[in-house]
Amino acid sequence: MRTFHAYQVVPTLPESLQYLRTLAYNVHWSWERETLELFRRLDRSLWENCSHNPVRMLGTIDQERLKDAASDDSYLAGLEAAYISLETYMKSRNTWFHRNYVHHHEKPTIAYFCMEFGLTECLPIYSGGLGVLAGDHLKSSSDLGVPLMGVGLLYQQGYFRQYLNQDGWQQERYPENDFYNMPIQQVLDNAGQPIRVQIDLPGRPLFVQVWKVQVGRVSLFLLDTNLTVNRPDDQNITDQLYGGNSEMRLLQEIVLGIGGQRALEAMSIRPTLCHMNEGHSAFQALERARVMMKETGCSFEVAREACASGSLFTTHTPVPAGFDLFSADLLRPYFSQYVSELTLSFDEFMELGRVNRTDRNEQFNMAVLALRTAHHVNGVSKLHGLVSRRMAQAGYRDLPIEEIPVSSVTNGIHARSFTSSQMAQLLDKYIGGRWSQDVSGAEVWDRVDSIPDEELWRVKQLRKERLVQFARNRLVAQYKNKNAPEADIRMVKEVLHPDALTIGFARRFATYKRATLLLSDQVRLLKLLNNEERPVQIIMAGKSHPHDDGGKELIRQIVQFAHTSGARSRIVFLEDYDLNVARYLVQGVDVWLNTPRRPMEASGTSGMKVLANGGLNLSILDGWWDEAYSPGVGWAIGHGEEYSNPDEQDAI
Ligand SMILES: *Cc1c(COP(=O)(O)O)cnc(C)c1O
Repeated sequence: MRTFHAYQVVPTLPESLQYLRTLAYNVHWSWERETLELFRRLDRSLWENCSHNPVRMLGTIDQERLKDAASDDSYLAGLEAAYISLETYMKSRNTWFHRNYVHHHEKPTIAYFCMEFGLTECLPIYSGGLGVLAGDHLKSSSDLGVPLMGVGLLYQQGYFRQYLNQDGWQQERYPENDFYNMPIQQVLDNAGQPIRVQIDLPGRPLFVQVWKVQVGRVSLFLLDTNLTVNRPDDQNITDQLYGGNSEMRLLQEIVLGIGGQRALEAMSIRPTLCHMNEGHSAFQALERARVMMKETGCSFEVAREACASGSLFTTHTPVPAGFDLFSADLLRPYFSQYVSELTLSFDEFMELGRVNRTDRNEQFNMAVLALRTAHHVNGVSKLHGLVSRRMAQAGYRDLPIEEIPVSSVTNGIHARSFTSSQMAQLLDKYIGGRWSQDVSGAEVWDRVDSIPDEELWRVKQLRKERLVQFARNRLVAQYKNKNAPEADIRMVKEVLHPDALTIGFARRFATYKRATLLLSDQVRLLKLLNNEERPVQIIMAGKSHPHDDGGKELIRQIVQFAHTSGARSRIVFLEDYDLNVARYLVQGVDVWLNTPRRPMEASGTSGMKVLANGGLNLSILDGWWDEAYSPGVGWAIGHGEEYSNPDEQDAI
């Protein structure tokens, strides 16, 4: 797997275009449309072929194109404006955080730990909602001026790329990420040497290097074990997101938690608050306690308490089976030595991860460790907060459920990242730029009714046309990859209709999301799709985890249905769902359909993106929709009831 070392043959950037490099290395361009346009304008087809990666683009672009841009005054003016705008943004002290916390003496340093971050499609180190939320968290923190930094893993291959075989069965590809041609940079120490930290694994050291993505004002530090000094199998630890077996997951979580804290320490960063986004990073708490014990000589209990008061744990899982569990036998070789530094016996360590401390049959639960090392714990919607309190109840036997210290903060989105440029312009024009900085400020939206219906409709219609065109192009590419006959390729060039009511359904294909619920009455569905006066069309997308055959079966059923004669051209499946596909969909659909098995959808955020683009939600009352739904902004399926029999629930 250690196939390459990248050599960059970089075209020389003319002096007058040097700003492009600065702009490329701050992914602020991913939500600053005008900057992004500067890259796209250089060479539209190259921009597409480079997966919207400006660094790779600057590394491969034709010298002639650069010369053209360098002699184009309007281009240069735009470039300078974008550069100045980024400089101003980076230095501005007029931020929400500054206005509200300027009088506080100590500015906190917040470290936000997560296994995945979804920032842009050219950094494929995310799989779904958890990562996109984390990415949005960084972007919003940047806009608000919150002194936060991210800590994650830099995957050599990231999450898999999806394509389907002739039968509609999901296949996975794992292209290698070329870090030297991505908007990331290695973190160096004062002597100009790459920063490396060490973790002791059984019988050998593991070295970890550190990379940085600049996300506006926020830094995201990413850890990487792909170093030749490491044992070959250790080099692979940071290969794949959610790949490998339980031991691989454990190793990744050791790198994220313990390695993450050591990397911050090596960069002289001492977080005052550590945020564990999901329990994967909970080992960070042990490392933080260890350092405190060493420095102050305090006991583990004192250190744990002290760290917990500066720790926050966000749980995203609505079922106990969703938590990471590790057996004592798996943990022993990795932790017996380490926990002795915490003055704990191995059994005392195991107790930290068990709901019932004395039950030796219980495995080590990362969420339990996170609960015990963070004083602030939250679920990701009101309903999920309640579900999480119910799950945590076993650990708080004496407390009534409402007093269990698990609250909720409903997930959100970084609005600028998901709102189409046309819709953003419309909102800027009629309600002012505050809609994206202060999305939840009710008075910001007072003027939303002043947007003329015709203008709103025109934007909606334009984005739907773009979505139809995008879907056709993707389908043509998909068919070509499968060596489909010419006639079929001609056919898909004409699927869908820009005037039909367009329903979108795109998300991870986990079985609880019930993507095929829609197909339960196929005769009726076909009638709806083919209604002459009010035709309906459906665009679907989503990946299933490589080990989840149940999810893959759902994709196969949908694709096979889409190939039946009455459904052809009315229902399509787009391969390789990612942030790019997601943006086209949420900006273009009329209706966003969501049919999770309540209460399995902890929050969900894609429907929020649709709302921000003037689309309507049609969803089971679950996750965020359970609290956001009101008549007039969309439709609720059911009344929020739950069933013990899943077949009955599906039928109803
Ligand atoms: C927003 C988003 C998600 C999360 O949406 P859900 O509603 O939780 O399914 C997942 N993947 C991508 C690419 C997204 O943009």
